[in-house]
Amino acid sequence: MKKILLIATGGTIASREDGRGLSPAATGEELARSVPEIAGLCGLTVVQPMNIDSTNMRPADWLRIRDVIAQGYDDHDGFVILHGTDTMAYTAAALSYLVQGSAKPIVLTGSQQPMGAPFTDAKLNIYQSLLYALDDASRDVAIVFGGAVIAGTRARKQRTMSYNAFKSINFPPLALIRTEKIIRGTGAGAACGASADAEAGGPRPNFHDTLNPRVCALKLTPGLTPAVFGLLKAAYDAIILETFGIGGIPEYGDGGAGSFQHAIFDWVDSGRTIVMTTQVPEEGMDLGVYEVGRVYADHPGILKGGDMTTEALVAKTMWVLGQTRDPDRVRELFYAPVNFDRIDG
Ligand code: ASP
Repeated sequence: MKKILLIATGGTIASREDGRGLSPAATGEELARSVPEIAGLCGLTVVQPMNIDSTNMRPADWLRIRDVIAQGYDDHDGFVILHGTDTMAYTAAALSYLVQGSAKPIVLTGSQQPMGAPFTDAKLNIYQSLLYALDDASRDVAIVFGGAVIAGTRARKQRTMSYNAFKSINFPPLALIRTEKIIRGTGAGAACGASADAEAGGPRPNFHDTLNPRVCALKLTPGLTPAVFGLLKAAYDAIILETFGIGGIPEYGDGGAGSFQHAIFDWVDSGRTIVMTTQVPEEGMDLGVYEVGRVYADHPGILKGGDMTTEALVAKTMWVLGQTRDPDRVRELFYAPVNFDRIDG
């Protein structure tokens, strides 16, 4: 019988109302007992590294989850992480970079309604996550939620209430789950859920244990002052800049001091990293299309997010800058695909 490590971290799935608002209370053991249908499916070990609303999840917590996986890796066939939905896409992306090329599936799930709610989605999500984690064809980091299986670098929370909360962005879902049946796609990698960069069947994945948390995301809004880059310098080494449309950065003046161009090039020249992406949810970016983007298109210090999600860009940049600050190596690591995170090289 296969062995699964259930890693409970909190979230709505574990939450109860205590008069001050929903907050995590149920333990992983209690949650597992609430789904009697999973008894006999596998040998289940439950660990509880934290019990928090995922609003409070930080990069240091991603490393704690990574440590639990690393410690339990050899003794288990798969991992199911119970997690709040609000930042699940960030944690799934972070784990994709921290645990690369895992032949054993690492599944994140949670629910929109607490386990104790009358029409909760918690039971089916736990059940289907275990089914997916037990399937021989599953591997690497994925979110299983609302009947969809999404690569860990491609998820975004798209709905605050509906049970199909997550969407796979710019990449097809790896599989759908209909009650007990896993229906896998036929595209590259999706048939087996294998990552293009992973060496299938290796004894241990490539575990990484350093992140640089000094990374933030900044969304352009009309009229935003370029001075914001100067203000961010003390606290951050990298900015993920959500530009307009397919890749537009405002230029109100002549590009001189006080302009975005000046502020952005100054940011890069000071040894910091900038990643350009789009605030449009789907189809990615191309800085070369409009004049308001092209000035940045060929600058070697400006990294292009392509069709990646902001969630994955934040996590990948934290991982890359945790490995190196050498600009050539930063570019090399940034553009190397991991767990289907980019399709444009
Ligand atoms: N606030 C909760 C959390 O992210 C929401 C959820 O789990 O659905 O922990």
